[in-house]
Amino acid sequence: MAKMLIGGELVDAQGGKTIEVRNPANGEVVGQIPRGTTADVDAAVDAARKAFPAWAAMPGSKRAKLMHAAALKMHEVVDEVAKLLAMEQGKPLAHAKIEAQRVAENLEYFAGLADKIRGDYIPLDDPSKFGITMRRPVGVVAAITPWNFPLTLFANKLCPALATGCTIVLKPASTTPLATQRAIEAINSAGFPPGVINTVHGAGSEIGDALVSHPKINKIAFTGQTATGKRIMELAAKNVTRVTLELGGSDAMIVADDADIRRATAAAAIGRFFNAGQACLAVKRIFLFEKIAEEFMTKFTERAQKEWKVGEQFAADTKMGPLHTEQQRAEVEAQVADAVKRGAKVLAGGKRPEGAEYSKGWFYPATVLTDVPEDSRMATEEVFGPAVPLFIVKELDEAITKANSSIYGLGSSIFTKDMAKARKAAEQLDAGYTWVNDIQIAYDQLPFGGAKQSGFGKEHGVEAIESYTEKKSVVLGSG
Ligand code: NAP
Repeated sequence: MAKMLIGGELVDAQGGKTIEVRNPANGEVVGQIPRGTTADVDAAVDAARKAFPAWAAMPGSKRAKLMHAAALKMHEVVDEVAKLLAMEQGKPLAHAKIEAQRVAENLEYFAGLADKIRGDYIPLDDPSKFGITMRRPVGVVAAITPWNFPLTLFANKLCPALATGCTIVLKPASTTPLATQRAIEAINSAGFPPGVINTVHGAGSEIGDALVSHPKINKIAFTGQTATGKRIMELAAKNVTRVTLELGGSDAMIVADDADIRRATAAAAIGRFFNAGQACLAVKRIFLFEKIAEEFMTKFTERAQKEWKVGEQFAADTKMGPLHTEQQRAEVEAQVADAVKRGAKVLAGGKRPEGAEYSKGWFYPATVLTDVPEDSRMATEEVFGPAVPLFIVKELDEAITKANSSIYGLGSSIFTKDMAKARKAAEQLDAGYTWVNDIQIAYDQLPFGGAKQSGFGKEHGVEAIESYTEKKSVVLGSG
């Protein structure tokens, strides 16, 4: 059974209870985790608070060394962690491996920044004095992560926290705690002082409030649904705790009349069907210029039908595993049904795959719809599964207006050879990211975060350092 890491010790929940973790492909129990209580939250936060002063005072180069060592430890367990991730999350093993490797890469990236965090010298009007700014770590970070990319999303929080001298209490999703816990144990074995890295497990509905409203938490780094983010923001207000919120999205892809259709359909398919569509940054609405609409639809439908083999996560030919939970599949099915009831046409997928191998899991195929009403659920809500609506537009202004009509503003993309169109899209799409002629992949080097109800605050890039540090002004008089 997995444990929690609190103050350097691997422990069970104080209440002695556990939660079962299940394989989404067949419902079998694959592990157990402690069902943490508020007493466990208190213990983890206290441990993180106690460890904070010494960790913050440690020279950045020493923290960097530990993080580099942790990256090596992470590399050693990639296969083991990936297997756990595939089993509990449902994603194909090969994709789980990429995700586990990303943790090590993220550690390396932020280790490289740990000894480069610094302030400024600022001349003042009075020549007998001058100002400086210093960047101080914010303190104890509560990191709360979802089940879709459990590893990369905890790394996005852990790595800048460690680099800046913050300590952390991590609460993974209760349906995907196993890979995270194993990865954390490997990372911690590099020699971090006890209490720098802590985990608590348990249902967000039971321990989430205690963690988020804890007076000794200085920052909440949250990734998850917009509804949960709103609740967290409300609770954080109680202690004026800073938050970064990485929330839902409904990314638009615009395909202009001069686009390379082969590349655009390949990017749209990966952008929509990777991770069985359960990605925040995913192509969730596609706007096609009239001239290329038919060609795009035919080629994209072909890819959806032929290239995205649904199957069990350990089968070598599986491109798409099951959806993560029964509820998740029911939600996508309801969104598709709503569109169809209102006149949408199904070009690919649209119903559960048949066969004994699919009977016990939450499988759903790559699904493409056209003639989807603009006020239907598929168009207005986040679709967190492998189904996508295609819309036809006359020109770029219409595409941008429709793309921006969403409450979300996470990612966006445009396929065009015309620099003027690309520039206009980059300038006018309300989103935290715009890709031009490229697949929606977030880069370590570029700041990532949403606009509108997709949240605020940045992960990745040197910008991530800003939200884990407080810039303090100091005036130095002549004495
Ligand atoms: P979720 O239901 O909001 O859960 C996310 C995390 O919050 C889980 O650890 C959950 O714990 C916890 N939680 C639930 N209620 C809580 C509460 N009252 N207080 C504190 N924590 C609480 O999200 P999800 O369904 O796992 O994830 C899918 C969503 O995440 C999608 O909307 C997706 O777009 C978004 N997402 C956004 C990004 C981004 O970077 N913008 C990246 C990935 C995913 P339990 O598991 O125990 O419920």
